[in-house]
Amino acid sequence: MNEVERFHLLKLKKVKKALERNGMRAYVAKDRHHALRKALSLIRKGAEVGLGGSRTVAEIGLLDALRKGNYKLYDQYQPSLSKAKAMEMRMKGARARYFVSGTNAITEDGKLVNIDGIGNRLAGFCFGPEKVIIVIGRNKIVPDIDAAIYRAKNVAAPINAIRFGLNTPCVMTARCSDCESPQRICSFTLIIDRQKVKDRINVILVNEDLGF
Ligand code: SF4
Repeated sequence: MNEVERFHLLKLKKVKKALERNGMRAYVAKDRHHALRKALSLIRKGAEVGLGGSRTVAEIGLLDALRKGNYKLYDQYQPSLSKAKAMEMRMKGARARYFVSGTNAITEDGKLVNIDGIGNRLAGFCFGPEKVIIVIGRNKIVPDIDAAIYRAKNVAAPINAIRFGLNTPCVMTARCSDCESPQRICSFTLIIDRQKVKDRINVILVNEDLGF
């Protein structure tokens, strides 16, 4: 392990402890392959699985593994789906037994911050699925809630707007202007301070930069 990985490992271990204090179960994975194995070990074969939009989940190979494996995956990202069918997938996914996602940011004291346009991802985080699995690259760790909201609004949301080919101001400026665009993708902001149902939320912290 090089000095950069050792430095991040120290931070990841501190965040793991903070998450556990906040009622969540947390794991540290040395890389994306380790994270994939851990995530799959938490999901029962044949179970219903819902998805929150996440580049990280795709980057570690979890999306592919869920698509190819023995799971009932509610996959709203299949290109052939109509808008109505994709929405149905989101609704079913937010109530599935397992819910898999990334996050926009995580604070050093173990709080998760996310912004959604539709809200299905936030719904799945809060209530419904028995087990939530959140995969997080080391690049998403920020000092506090203000920095987490800043990151969600000024990094994750503009990149998503660019990705979706939208015409929002952040696509031109690379920062959030709290726009009133009809294409605005920021509707709901969720801070997960604590999980009351112990170990319902499982966080896999990965010692790699993942997602955005
Ligand atoms: S509120 Fe508007 S400008 Fe700000 S990040 Fe969201 S879409 Fe972009």
